[in-house]
Parts: sequence; C-alpha cells; structure tokens
Amino acid sequence: MHKGLIVQKFGGSSVANLSRIQNVARRVVNYSKKGYDLVVVVSALGDTTDELIELAHKINPEPAEREMDMLLSTGEQISVALLAMAIHKLGYEAISFTGAQVGIITDTSHTRARILKINADKIKEELKNGKIVIVAGFQGVTLNQDITTLGRGGSDLTAVALAKELCARECQIYTDVAGIYTTDPHIERRAKKISRITYDEMLEMASLGAQVMQARSIEVAKKFNVPIHVRSSFSKKSGTMIVREVKRMEDVVVSGVTLNKKEAKITVCNVPDRPGVAAKIFKELSSGGISVDMIVQNVSHTRQTDISFTVNKSGLSKASRITKKIARQIQADDVLEDQDIARVSIVGVGMKSHPGVAAKMFESLAKNKINIEMISTSDISISCIIKKKSGETAVRALHEKFGLAK
Ligand code: ADP
Ligand code: ASP
Ligand code: MG
Repeated sequence: MHKGLIVQKFGGSSVANLSRIQNVARRVVNYSKKGYDLVVVVSALGDTTDELIELAHKINPEPAEREMDMLLSTGEQISVALLAMAIHKLGYEAISFTGAQVGIITDTSHTRARILKINADKIKEELKNGKIVIVAGFQGVTLNQDITTLGRGGSDLTAVALAKELCARECQIYTDVAGIYTTDPHIERRAKKISRITYDEMLEMASLGAQVMQARSIEVAKKFNVPIHVRSSFSKKSGTMIVREVKRMEDVVVSGVTLNKKEAKITVCNVPDRPGVAAKIFKELSSGGISVDMIVQNVSHTRQTDISFTVNKSGLSKASRITKKIARQIQADDVLEDQDIARVSIVGVGMKSHPGVAAKMFESLAKNKINIEMISTSDISISCIIKKKSGETAVRALHEKFGLAK
C-alpha cells in the first residue's frame, strides 16, 4: 500500500560510526516496509565537518571560501555512499546522490549559500523505480557548477527544502536527543521535552544557539508550512512537532533557555564621536561578508566612545583585520578581541504581554554573581553576553527561575 512520501534527515551523531549507520539503515528500511516513499538526507559522520575545518585552518587561517566548500562537501559524500551500501546489505534498493546530482541549485555565496531552486526530476524518477533515495545534506551547486555549502547545520535545510519541493507528508529530523527541550538536555538534566513548538519560537531558539535545528531551515519550514518532527534516532518514541500554531490555555512566558559560545566580541576603543563612524565600520564588515550581531555603543561625555559588537568566531580573524584597518582610518585607538564570552538567552512568545521578565532574568544572574557585559532584546527574547565560564551556571539558573525544570 502506498502511503506517501516522507523526508528523513539523520544528523552527524546518528551516523557517527558503522553500527550507527547500520541502525539508520534498519530504521529507513522499516519505514519502507510500511509503504512509504523515502528520501533520506544524511550529514557527515560524527565531527567530520569540524575536523575538516580544523585541517583547512592549519593550512591557511583564511582559506578561500570556494575551496572550503569543495572540502566540506566531501564529508556528506562519504555518509550517503555508506548508507546506501548498508541498505543494500539488508536487501533493499537504494541510490545515493550529491546535492549537485539532485539539482539543488544555489547562489554563489560560498559557505552560506542560499537555495535558488531544486530540479527534483531525478529523485522522482528513482522513487518511481522503487528506490530509497539518499541525498547528501548541506550542499548544492551554482549554475556555474561550483560546489557550495548551506551554512553549519545545513543538512536540516536540505531536508526541509526537499520536503517542500516533493510535497512530503512530514520532514523527520533524527538526532541524538528525543526532541526539542526547554534547554540543552546535555547542560541541564532537568530540561523538559516540548511536545509542540511554533516555528517562531523554534526560529528564535535556533538563532540564539539551540543547534538542534538550523535557523534557516526553520525559516523555510515556516514560509511553506512544512511540518517537522524532531526525534531520536535511537528510540521509537515520538519527539517534538514544529508547527505554525500551538493552542495553549495561557501564554507560557518563557518557553526555553539557550546558550551560544560560538561568538566573540570585538571592541573599538576611543572612537571619535561624529556622524558616519559606525556606518563606516559596519559597511566594511558587511562588504567583507561578516555578519555582526549585538552592537553596543556607550554614551560619551568626552566626545570619544567605545563600540563593541559580536561576530561568529569562524569570521573573527577576518572581522578583526577589517576593523583594525578602519580604526586606523577613523583615528580610533586599539581594537580588542574577546573570545571568552557566551550569550545566554530566554525565549518565549508570552514575553510580549508580560512585564518584568528582563528584571527577573538580570536578578537571577546577579544572584549567581554573573556579570552582564551586553544586553539585547527582541519581541520574544532577551539575551545577555556574559563570561564563557559562567554559561552553564547561567542556563541552569534561568531554567529554574522561569519554572521550566522537571
Ligand atoms: P545532529 O548531529 O543530529 O545534527 P546537533 O549536534 O546539530 O545534532 O544537534 C543536537 C544537539 O543540540 C543535542 O545533542 C543538544 O546537545 C543540542 N541542543 C541545544 N539546545 C537544545 C534544545 N533546546 N533541545 C534539544 N537539543 C538541544
Ligand atoms: N555536516 C554539516 C555541519 O556539521 C551539516 C550538518 O551537520 O547539518 O554543519
Ligand atoms: Mg545539526
């Protein structure tokens, strides 16, 4: 009996070694036996991508982005081939493809490319032939035949985009935890599994550091209403549904706490206080492909001011080089780098209608003797930059304070 199409994505931890790859093969085959058509997206084995990045930086601290994509895309190519072989061993038909082979066409922004379109004809043809189709996550190809990657965690995006393109019933994301929790269960054992969460809350949590889903994949899922089911690849239990709306009797003020240690802070000291200075710094950074996050400029009495901002650590060396160049041009003083920071955030749609949430957050950090270096807020989140070593303590304290613990 034909039950329709499901896209399943298995993350790096789910295919970290051969016995895990065999476990994935069994899971996939079980679904196939039930009568589903299957498109399976796989990430690179375990920490392969991190290892490849490290290797590249040993050769060149600022590797060309095109070559980076050439290198990183190899990780996923290994996984798809091995999974296909494991499925064959179980007596089922499967065929593996790279992103380029299945027509995932992207723009030319290497290492963070955007999908322009997907020519899914090849996938449809192989599904018709009764095969399980396995696609390398995280990668695409430009119209010029250059290989691109979709940003860290990009296999999630591959899966969601294919689910949309193929009108899948569901996009299942298999990982090493049982779903989306109120905070990272590896930091707080008392974190609770959330059974349903909205795209908006998940997007905010992902953007603020909950790496369980790539933020961009949630943007696409929200835009096209793709239902996502995040679950464990080691258990049969259902996990978390990510959906448009969750009906709750009352707003939950804070639904999750996140921690991000992937940012670094850059401070430009004694910037002359005149119009156009900030514009110059941030325009040059954006032309260099650096996205800047939190920005703080203090009030100056002396007509000089400090400007601090955060960037992703992966772009720190380039960001620092560009900032130093501008600092000289605008006659500012030193440019300082701080890699010893973490961002702790609380997220919840209910925040909009509840005053006093920020005060409660700051109070809780103060009680734990954690100093706040920067603050930023959005409609549904509040973030503080603190010292990295206090990150986990802050998460546990806030998780408790907002009543999220089991
Ligand atoms: P995969 O290899 O499957 O892509 P990731 O390492 O990218 O897995 O994401 C899963 C990890 O995300 C979990 O092991 C967990 O430590 C972390 N994580 C962070 N925040 C959360 C959260 N709120 N809920 C669940 N997992 C989270
Ligand atoms: N392997 C890639 C990464 O580690 C993509 C992914 O895992 O989703 O970022
Ligand atoms: Mg991931």
